[in-house]
This record gives sequence, C-alpha cells and structure tokens, in this order.
Amino acid sequence: MSIRFDDKVAIVTGAGGGLGRQYALELARRGAKVVVNDLGGDRTGQGASDAALKVVEEIEAAGGQAMANGASVTEYDQMVEMVARAKEEWGGVHVLINNAGVLRDKTFAKMEPADFAFVVNVHLLGSANATKACWETFREQNYGRILMTASSTGLFGNFGQANYGAAKLGLAGLTKTLYLEGAKNNIKVNTIAPVAGTRMTEDLFPEQAFQAFAPEKVVPAALFLVSEEAPTNQIVGAGAGVFQASYVTLTQGKLLTGDDLSPEGVARHWAEITDRTGEIVPDSGAGQSMLIGAKLQGQ
Ligand code: NAD
Repeated sequence: MSIRFDDKVAIVTGAGGGLGRQYALELARRGAKVVVNDLGGDRTGQGASDAALKVVEEIEAAGGQAMANGASVTEYDQMVEMVARAKEEWGGVHVLINNAGVLRDKTFAKMEPADFAFVVNVHLLGSANATKACWETFREQNYGRILMTASSTGLFGNFGQANYGAAKLGLAGLTKTLYLEGAKNNIKVNTIAPVAGTRMTEDLFPEQAFQAFAPEKVVPAALFLVSEEAPTNQIVGAGAGVFQASYVTLTQGKLLTGDDLSPEGVARHWAEITDRTGEIVPDSGAGQSMLIGAKLQGQ
C-alpha cells in the first residue's frame, strides 16, 4: 500500500519550520497541494517573518505545489479566508494539520494570566478556528482528515507548562467530540503527541538526542493519520522512530451504598475504585454512564 495525496489539498498550520515544515514537504512530495501557514514569529509568538514563503519555495523547487499563508491561527476570519483561497485555487481542502504552537513556560506560581491565555489561544482556540474554517467544506465533500497536535505535557504533565498542558489536553478533548460529529461525513480526527528536536525543544535535548529526535521521524505517523486509510479518534505518540498509542481509560469502578456512600467510604474503597483490572476505553462520554448503569443493574 502506497500512501499518496494526489488530488488532495492539505493545510498545515505553523509549517514555516520544525515539524510543520517536514509535514508540508512530505505531503507535497506525495502529491498534495499544500497551504503552508505560518506567521513566522519566535518561539514565544512574538514578531513575524516570511518563514511560510521559504517553505513554499522549497516545495516548488522540488517540483511540488504550495501556497504561503502568513495569517495567525488565532484570527478566525483569516482562517476562513485561507480556506476560501485554497478552494478558489485548487477546488477543495481535504487535510488539516493543526500544528502551530508557541511556548511561554513558567511555574504556575510565576505565570501571568495573560501568558496562560495566550498559549491556550494559539494552540487550542487556534486549532478550533482552523478546524471550524474547514468543517463545512469537509462535510460537503464527505471527506476530511484532521490532525490535532497534543503533547506529552497535555497527556501526562510537565513542570512549568501549565498553560501549554491545559491547551494540549484540550486538543485531545476536541478530537474526541469532533470524531463523533464528523463520522457520518467521513471526517476522521486524530491527535499526535510528537517528540522532536526543533527550536521548541532545543534547550531541553542534549546535541546527540536532538539529532536522534529529528522531526522527519515523526512524519510517518502524521501522514498516516491524515491519509485515506486513517483510523479515527486515536492519540498517537511519535518520536525518534518510535510510535505509540495513548488512551483515556476508565476503571470498572465500585458501587458504594449505605454508610459507604460517604467520603470515608470512598477512602475505604479507594483501592477497588482505582483497580485497573477490566479497565475500558469508552468510545464516547456515554461509555461512562453505561458502565454506571451496568453497575446499578448488577446491584
Ligand atoms: P516550532 O516552533 O518549530 O513550530 C511551531 C510553528 O508554529 C512555528 O513555525 C511558529 O512560527 C508557528 N506559529 C506560532 N504561532 C502561530 C500562529 N498564531 N499562527 C500560525 N503559526 C504560528 O516547534 P515544533 O516543535 O515544530 O512544534 C510543532 C507543534 O508540535 C507545536 O504545536 C508543538 O507544541 C508540538 N509539539 C512539539 C514537540 C517537540 O518535541 N518538538 C513536543 C510536543 C508537541
């Protein structure tokens, strides 16, 4: 099976460097027409540059087709314009990789509310903006592939990244509802949690690890997750050529009644409540209520 994107139009946000650039280059190499979105700011989201244009030039030099877009994902109207422009030029949009991101790391004690809001705005609301701008087109076409970019920080936590972690787990949450709402129109929605040596991580990785975690090694997962054959509602970890699946799970739980239906009862039964034997991965929020219903029937 060869994965190709001929006749597909793909938008990659934050594709002026790092992971997004690699996604854009490989999508184009495999036949996609690519909108390279990036406002070209620094790691904290300050300033602007022609980063997107440079990637477009690279794609064109390699014989591919691409268009630069310098809009910020935080501007919904500009995302709508970006989609309209791609449709005008190429007749549709089929793939959206929400990849744009910034960092404003500090312990929560020292973090200004404005820096919390800024990071959530770029990652979470920015991805919602770009997705919303594509959504109606995906529904009309009965085809859409969306990839959200989470992070191990969102899934598991990381010291000094409360704003980033909140936004990133929010993206996994967005995936979990959009996959349900998009299913009948063949819209598949997944989340990637990459680990890569980019400017975002340059001061975290020692030089050797930086090379081992080349962003190119994340590309296979990202492209599979936006391909025709893509699964849906998956959270996939990818770094240095290792690929993983991550799940939000639910334990079987414990029904408490009588004296046990109290904070003290929860404390007494904590080991059973948190026992992972028979743990499930619900397909939707209804899974939790169904499990509760089953417990009540078995009472
Ligand atoms: P990067 O800084 O090289 O790439 C992020 C890109 O987003 C930049 O080119 C930046 O200009 C662009 N951008 C920022 N704000 C934007 C905005 N408002 N509108 C449009 N573009 C904007 O870093 P990267 O490591 O390639 O990160 C790509 C994505 O992967 C990010 O969402 C990041 O949070 C995520 N991620 C990266 C790692 C890692 O190990 N590198 C780990 C987990 C998650």
